Amino acid sequence: MEEYIEGAGGTSELALLLLKHVDVSLAGFMDDSQYLLSALGFLNRAQVRNGALRPALLAHGMMRTHTGVLAALGRSADPCQGFAREMLINYSLVLLPSFLCAEPMPRHAIQALKAGLLSALINISLNFTDAQVLQPLEYILKKILPAAMAHYSVLWRMVTMLSTLGAVVASRPFKASRMYPFWRVILEVAVDRLPVLTDYEAVRESMRACDNGPCSKIGGKSAFSRCSGCYSVYYCSAPCQKADWRLGRHREACATLHASRHTDLLRGRELSFMRALVHADYLAQRTEILCLQIGYLNQRPDVDIYLLFWYTEGKVDIKIYRVGVYPPTYDWGIDWAYWARRKRASGGRMELHLVVTTCWAGGTCARMIPRRCRDARVSEGLARIAALPMPRGGEDVVGDMYEPLVIALKEEDEGSIH
Ligand SMILES: [Zn+2]
Ligand SMILES: [Zn+2]
Repeated sequence: MEEYIEGAGGTSELALLLLKHVDVSLAGFMDDSQYLLSALGFLNRAQVRNGALRPALLAHGMMRTHTGVLAALGRSADPCQGFAREMLINYSLVLLPSFLCAEPMPRHAIQALKAGLLSALINISLNFTDAQVLQPLEYILKKILPAAMAHYSVLWRMVTMLSTLGAVVASRPFKASRMYPFWRVILEVAVDRLPVLTDYEAVRESMRACDNGPCSKIGGKSAFSRCSGCYSVYYCSAPCQKADWRLGRHREACATLHASRHTDLLRGRELSFMRALVHADYLAQRTEILCLQIGYLNQRPDVDIYLLFWYTEGKVDIKIYRVGVYPPTYDWGIDWAYWARRKRASGGRMELHLVVTTCWAGGTCARMIPRRCRDARVSEGLARIAALPMPRGGEDVVGDMYEPLVIALKEEDEGSIH
């Protein structure tokens, strides 16, 4: 690879040459698709061996070119006249995830969607049955697209695109295609999240909570000042900021939070939409979540817990864990001591909710989006119900047995935010 880079005069030059080569072969592949095959084959190998090439390719418009390749190959009329078309699509689809999810997420996914990725993938779903096409396509439909839909701009773009593709999506051949079950999940997620998207855009001011634990006041964002050191905590007043700096030990965390801001790519509108999404999903599943918590706390009354929101395969999946403990094989670098301290300082008005999304190439990353309550009635109620003798049969029965208590608890929960 070093020789290729040297020959081209640099990484950026090589990336430009490769993309030019793909564009030219795409225009002429009626004559000889061998060229396209060699270009895609090279990209597949280069991608694995040279990480530096990926950003260079992306900077030179890889997503547009690559989506063009998929669109041309996926049509029902065969542009290659039988030559290696399945293999070409296989190469293109195998390459796609690491580019789609390259950082900063979700910029490249948006570029691909704008270039017509959805209709290209729908066509491929319609026109192919070969395993070497369907296997990498299934991975993208199952693991990559639904996970990307937790991002505001991807979701917005997907919803818009899907509405223009309505006729194809509703067609009988599409519904009969082998990939349809995966598309159905994508469509359901789009429909489910549409109200969250609409509400999010209608409400101008997001809500905040004072990060001085003993205060925890909730109100409109404009009523709060943000810490100018880390830009990640909010206070209702100067005394609250002072108290949290010393007593809440924000002093010790501020610099670390500031540093992580540069590596944390989820911010601004993407982050505030994720808060809205987590909040909507929390409210929709509140009964189940409360029962889950009651069941868990009954078995382990003295344990600090957190809720894990998985946004990696379409609809959210919510699980419960002990603070500081990850599900096996994950390490997201969460400062548990910091969060446990904040939770304790809030006197039952903060619940830890950890949100997991997909980052590059299908890997996961997590960030804490705590739930903030107006008072401690819910956490106290949870502990009270959990202390009652539990029926045999586990968490499933908790809901039936303590239904009135859980409903009462839900009513006390009004006005919580994420
Ligand atoms: Zn700070
Ligand atoms: Zn305050």
